[in-house]
Amino acid sequence: MQVFSEMMSHHHEQVVFGYDPDAGLRAIIAIHDTSLGPALGGTRMWPYRSEAEALTDVLRLSRGMTAKAAIAGLNLGGGKGVIIGDADTDKNEMLFRAYGRLVQGLHGRFITAEDVGTEVRDMEWVRAETPYVVGTPRVLGGSGDPSPFTARGVYYGIKACIEEVFGTSSLDGMRIAIQGLGHVGMHLAALLAEHHVTLMVTDLHTENVQLAAEKFHAVSVGLEDIYSVDADIFSPCALGGILNDETIPQLQAKIVAGGANNQLQDDDKHGAILKDKGILYAPDYVINAGGLINVANEIEGYHRQYVLAQVETIYDILKRVIRMAKVEDIPTHLASERMAEKRIEQVAQLRRKFVTVPAVPYQHGRMFR
Ligand code: NAD
Repeated sequence: MQVFSEMMSHHHEQVVFGYDPDAGLRAIIAIHDTSLGPALGGTRMWPYRSEAEALTDVLRLSRGMTAKAAIAGLNLGGGKGVIIGDADTDKNEMLFRAYGRLVQGLHGRFITAEDVGTEVRDMEWVRAETPYVVGTPRVLGGSGDPSPFTARGVYYGIKACIEEVFGTSSLDGMRIAIQGLGHVGMHLAALLAEHHVTLMVTDLHTENVQLAAEKFHAVSVGLEDIYSVDADIFSPCALGGILNDETIPQLQAKIVAGGANNQLQDDDKHGAILKDKGILYAPDYVINAGGLINVANEIEGYHRQYVLAQVETIYDILKRVIRMAKVEDIPTHLASERMAEKRIEQVAQLRRKFVTVPAVPYQHGRMFR
């Protein structure tokens, strides 16, 4: 695999490979773009079949973080880390401390957090070697589990979408199909159940479905039937790639708005198909930015009320994306991409002028002093 040509094709700034045989560490950190600030992104632990596969994943994921932070209005760049290994069998303190030292070596250009295959406890080990980690437990000055904030952002995003499609700000009477009742999906179901909605839900784990049925009177739907149920809104909160050639033709919903990452199997192709079918797609990284907003606030000093207010702005951001898509007659995922790129360009342009005070406030913040 040609590392530099891969980096060049999407303008990555830096890729760092970390190897520690004693700790069993094989990790890659990709920093995509730091025009807006230090790169923030979770660290994924996954049994990649090859180094090339790990590199491809970290390059792709770090790019997504740049767009997510930019559109959420955060002063952060995009980055991501991957550790090659099995999260069920290969985790230990030394592995994550060795990884923490790799992060520390970047001196704040990269700030990490938990992701698929890693959890708060792992970040505590990382924290022993570097302050450049967020999403740590509350007792360590962190903000704990970000998923309630992700779910809240999705909830506001859904409100923006129904206003656009159904011309109402009330969820009452809406039929909502939720795929996946994990951390995000269950919190989302709870928020939606505060209204007079019909929830139709599915999950690999039947106990999650049972719980939602008991608590929220949700209707259980088969794993494959969730796409074709008679719903107004389809909310993917499980896997990526679920908007594809097989599933899109089945959709009855007029809105797709959920927390899962990388929902479009092929961005350009499936984004365009959704538009042609008249289905409003809330770009995943716009609507699911609540968790990122939450952990980003740890950097400068965490205030829950401020975070909640910031998460609520997802409503306005999504409305702007939808408006731009309409005016320019383009799919929503393209509109959000352009909005993110524009903000990065404008800030980079602004920073070309010399000023004596460094324009990176958080390096003087509470956490990294
Ligand atoms: P999770 O692992 O807690 O929940 C995922 C749920 O989906 C599980 O209950 C699982 O059983 C279910 N599931 C898996 N495959 C399924 C299938 N084929 N059909 C139905 N259900 C299935 O994960 P989470 O933290 O809730 O995250 C959900 C999605 O949201 C992921 O794509 C994640 O990347 C994304 N996301 C999460 C956050 C966050 O704050 N947790 C932030 C941004 C994006």
